[in-house]
Amino acid sequence: MITPRTTGIVGVHLWGRPCDIEGLTVLARQRGLALLFDASHAFGCSWKQRMIGSFGHAEVFSFHATKCLNTCEGGAIVTNDPELAGRCRLMKNFGFEGYDRVTRIGTNGKMNELSAAMGLTLMEDFTGIVEGNRQTYDCYNDGLAGLPSISLIRYDPAEAQNYHYVVLEIDESAAGISRDEVLTVLLCENVLARRYFYPGCHRMEPYKSLFPHAGLLLPVTERVAERVLVLPGGDAVSQEDIALICQVIRTCIEQAPDLRALLASSSESIRKMRCDIPVPPALAEHAYAGR
Ligand SMILES: *Cc1c(COP(=O)(O)O)cnc(C)c1O
Repeated sequence: MITPRTTGIVGVHLWGRPCDIEGLTVLARQRGLALLFDASHAFGCSWKQRMIGSFGHAEVFSFHATKCLNTCEGGAIVTNDPELAGRCRLMKNFGFEGYDRVTRIGTNGKMNELSAAMGLTLMEDFTGIVEGNRQTYDCYNDGLAGLPSISLIRYDPAEAQNYHYVVLEIDESAAGISRDEVLTVLLCENVLARRYFYPGCHRMEPYKSLFPHAGLLLPVTERVAERVLVLPGGDAVSQEDIALICQVIRTCIEQAPDLRALLASSSESIRKMRCDIPVPPALAEHAYAGR
């Protein structure tokens, strides 16, 4: 995909699992390209026992409210290059190099005090947050055991992880029910699961209009975008909630043909549909509402 106009590569450590850092580093060096990593998901994660944050020319963490460490809004650029760090500091502070002296074009990208206070407070118990995430993950893992048509994302136990995302892949041909149908059932049960990253950047503007046939070059993206489902996580989801959510998913697969017929028949029946599982109304409030 590298053309004469390409100036850099952005690798993404999706779900906190490091991307092919080695391969991209070699490629970027060979082709003289800048290498950045979108480390939005990867705070507290490691690659070959080295913490994410030290690779490429720079890595960028997100501290948005939906992320593992949250400052409400905000993030951090980290780099081992002092010159680049200096330029980033200038850029985020209007290009001010001192009082009354602007030396380059900048923007207002400063973190505000309240956000910083939020982040520092959560940092005090970051290991506790990760431990809670791990328990949530384990609980889903137990609850979904023995469903071969469903695979839960795996995290390498030999590396540091934040276990922030509970991600399923649903194999429609084996399950007899599609990801979208399972999602509809979950939403009917007030479980705020979500398709990520759907439908894929290339199907959104401006890329959709600029490159209408991009999907032809992205068969893996297209296939994965049809199969992935992210389940509610975070410390507001209790083990009881998780057991219920797993029971809903199990029911979807055990009763796939019936549910499929119901979903196809009418929106009215969708509204009436229940999986015979008592879902406390509070579950909807607790569930993680991603952006
Ligand atoms: C959340 C997220 C971003 C954006 O982070 P912001 O802090 O909202 O700018 C970028 N990439 C990925 C993969 C994300 O999940």
